[in-house]
Amino acid sequence: MIDQQTIERINDAARIEDVVSDYVTLRKRGVNMIGLCPFHNEKTPSFTVSPAKGIFKCFGCGKGGNSIHFIMEHEQLSYVEALKHLARKYHIEVVEKELTPEEIAARNDRESMLLVNEYAQKYFVSTLYNHVEGKAVGLGYFRERGFRDDIIKKFQLGYCLDEKDAFTQKALKEGYQKEFLVKTGLTYEGDNNYVADRFRGRVMFPIHSLSGKVLAFGGRILKNDKNLAKYVNSPESEIYHKSNELYGIFFAKQAIVKQDRCFLVEGYTDVLSMHQSGIENVVASSGTALTPGQIRLIHRFTENVTVIYDGDPAGIKASLRGIDLLLEEGLNIKVLLLPDGEDPDSFARKHNASDFIKIVNENSVDFMRFKTNLLLEDAGNDPIKKAGLIQDIVRSIAFIPNQIIRAEYVKECSTLLGVNEQILYHEINKIKNKKLEARLIRPGEPKKEVPKEDDASKSFAQNVAQLRTKFAGEEENIIRLLIKFGNHTLYKSAGSNGENEIIYRVCEYVLSELSQDNLVFQNPIFEKMKNEYAENYRNEEFEASTHFLYHSDVEVSRAAVDLISEKYTLSKVHERYQTVKPDEERLNELAPKFILEYKLAIIMNNRKDKMLEMKQAFEAKDKEKMALIRTDIERIDQLKQILSKELDRVLNLI
Ligand SMILES: [Zn+2]
Repeated sequence: MIDQQTIERINDAARIEDVVSDYVTLRKRGVNMIGLCPFHNEKTPSFTVSPAKGIFKCFGCGKGGNSIHFIMEHEQLSYVEALKHLARKYHIEVVEKELTPEEIAARNDRESMLLVNEYAQKYFVSTLYNHVEGKAVGLGYFRERGFRDDIIKKFQLGYCLDEKDAFTQKALKEGYQKEFLVKTGLTYEGDNNYVADRFRGRVMFPIHSLSGKVLAFGGRILKNDKNLAKYVNSPESEIYHKSNELYGIFFAKQAIVKQDRCFLVEGYTDVLSMHQSGIENVVASSGTALTPGQIRLIHRFTENVTVIYDGDPAGIKASLRGIDLLLEEGLNIKVLLLPDGEDPDSFARKHNASDFIKIVNENSVDFMRFKTNLLLEDAGNDPIKKAGLIQDIVRSIAFIPNQIIRAEYVKECSTLLGVNEQILYHEINKIKNKKLEARLIRPGEPKKEVPKEDDASKSFAQNVAQLRTKFAGEEENIIRLLIKFGNHTLYKSAGSNGENEIIYRVCEYVLSELSQDNLVFQNPIFEKMKNEYAENYRNEEFEASTHFLYHSDVEVSRAAVDLISEKYTLSKVHERYQTVKPDEERLNELAPKFILEYKLAIIMNNRKDKMLEMKQAFEAKDKEKMALIRTDIERIDQLKQILSKELDRVLNLI
C-alpha cells in the first residue's frame, strides 16, 4: 500500500497537461487544451485537457479522469502501478505502508522469485548475443526463422547453454538462493547437492505479466531428440499461474484497446511473426486450451476476439470447447481459417499489416456459423451424428449471455441445420434450466443471485459506469451540487439588530435536509461521497473537488470526474427551465429543487410499494390490512401535495 501523503505528492507533481503531452500533442484552446484522443481513432480532436481542473475528458469516446487515470488507461496499469509509474517520472520516493510479518514473508518470496527470473532473463539474453554457442545455435535459429533483431530484442528472447548446470552455477555464484531457483523451476534439485538447468540447450521465450515482469519461461529445444519435449515451460509457482496468463499480453494490451480487437493464436512464434508484420494486438494461449482466467484477461481490454486457425481440423475441434467459454463470457468471436498449409507464423510473414487486416476483414466468419458448418460437414447424412451436432450447437448458444445475440444465432442455426426455431429454443431452455439448478443447489456454496441476462455480457468497467441504482439521477444532482457549489452562500439570516449575521452555505442546507429525514443514497459511491463530505465540510481546508478528484478509491475519483466535467449545467437538466443566468446565481432555487425532486421520487416509490401491498391484501380479502394501507397512502398523498406545491413555487422562480 502506498501512503496517502505520497499519493498527494504524486498528484501535486503530475500536472495533467504535462502527463498527457508525453503521449498526445496538445494545442491551446481557451482555458483548455485539445488534441487527438489516444483511446479512440479520430480525425478531429475531441480530447480535452483542463489544466485548471486537473482532468482530461474525451467527448468522442467518453473517457475521462485525472493524471493517474490517464496513465492507468493508457499504459493499462492498476491504480498502484500507475502511481508508481508517475512517481518514477517525477522522482518521488514511494513510501509504502507497513506490512505484517506474514505479508512481508509472502512478498519477499514473490519478489525473490521475480528477481531470480529477471536475472535469468538477462543471463539468457546475454548468452544469446555473447556466447559462441548462443550466437551459433540460438541466434542462428531465430535469424534462420526470419525474425528481425528488433523483434528478438523486444520479446527478450534468449538462449540457455546445453550444459548440465551452467546457468544454475552462475546464478548461485552471483548470490541468488537455490530455494528460489528451484521454486521458479529454473533449476532441478536432486540428492547430494545435485542441481541441473531445466532449460538446457533451448531457446528461451520469457512470459511477461500484464505489467511486464517475467513470470515464467518457455524453452524450445533445437536438437532432434525424440526423448525430449519440443517445448518445456516453467512449472506453476507462486508467481506463475499458467491458466491466468497469456503470452504477449504485455506487448499487446495498448494495441488491443486501440483496435478494440484481440487476435488469438496458438504459439509464441505466431505472436512474434505478427508483431514483425506490424500487428500488435495479438496474444497466444501457448498451446493449452483457453481458460476462464485467460478470457477474463482479454475481456479487460476488449469484447472482440478473432481466433486465427491454421487448417488442421483436429486442432480446431480440440479448441471448440475453449471458444464456447469465450461465448459464455459474452465476447464477440470471429474465426479466421487460414489457407491449407499456412499457420499464423508463415501467413504473417507473407503479408504486411494492412494486407493482413484486409484479409481478416474479408475472410473471418462468425464463430457459431463456423462451428455449425464444420460439424455439419463432419456429420454428413448420418442422422445420429446430426442429432448430436444439434445438441452441441444448442449448448454453445445457451452459453451466450446476451438475449438479442442469442436470438440471432437461433435464427441462423435453424436455417443452417434445417431445424425449427421453436425446437432449438426448447432445447436451449432445457440446458439453461439445468445450469440454473446446478448453480442454485450446489452444496456448500453461498447462493448467488442469478445475474440479469444482459448485465453478464458487459465488462466490469461498463457495469460500474452504468450503475443505475434507484434515484441515481436525483442523487447525482445533489452530489454534483455539493461538489461544485457546496461552499457557495445560499442565504443570510440577519440578527434582529442587523448584527450577528448568519451565513448558510449550500452544503449546510443540503446535508441538514438529508440527515433530517435520515436519507441514505442507494448508489454506494454517491453515499460514500456524501458521508465524506459531511465529515469534512467544517474543515476550512476542505476543498471538495480536489478531495474527490484525487481520491484513493478509483471509483470515487472517476465519479468525481464525470460530475465535474459534465457539459450541461445543473439548471439545464430540465430544458423547460433554461434561462441565461448561470448556475451559481440560481442556487437559492436549484438547491431546494434538487432536494424536493429527490424526496418526491422517494415518496412516489413508496406509494408504488403501498399500491402493490394493497393489491395483495385485496386478493387475500384482508380488509383490516387494506384499511391500514389506505391510511398510509393518504398520508403519502398529503405529503406529496405539500412537496409538489413547494417544488412548483421553486420552479417558477427559476
Ligand atoms: Zn476518445
